[in-house]
Amino acid sequence: MDDVTKDECREVLDNLERYLDGECPADLEAVVAEHLSDCPPCLHRSDFERALSSLIARHCRDTAPAGLLDRVLTTRRRSCEQVDVAAAKRL
Ligand SMILES: [Zn+2]
Repeated sequence: MDDVTKDECREVLDNLERYLDGECPADLEAVVAEHLSDCPPCLHRSDFERALSSLIARHCRDTAPAGLLDRVLTTRRRSCEQVDVAAAKRL
């Protein structure tokens, strides 16, 4: 994996949350989609984010007490970092 690829991955991951929420501009969405089709680590991260988002939505949308969502989102950040570490070890 060279530096150009890493830069591209970073840009994709920076925009991944907006991409999954459907909030990216169309041109950026196309860039992210093309990258994901060609980059298994980013695709894995994307699947992870998507699964986590739906889990959070299912469990927290209607009944979350104040503060719970913040805690979940904090945990979510940590989980993502752990995934990155695990992915990095495999490379
Ligand atoms: Zn990538």
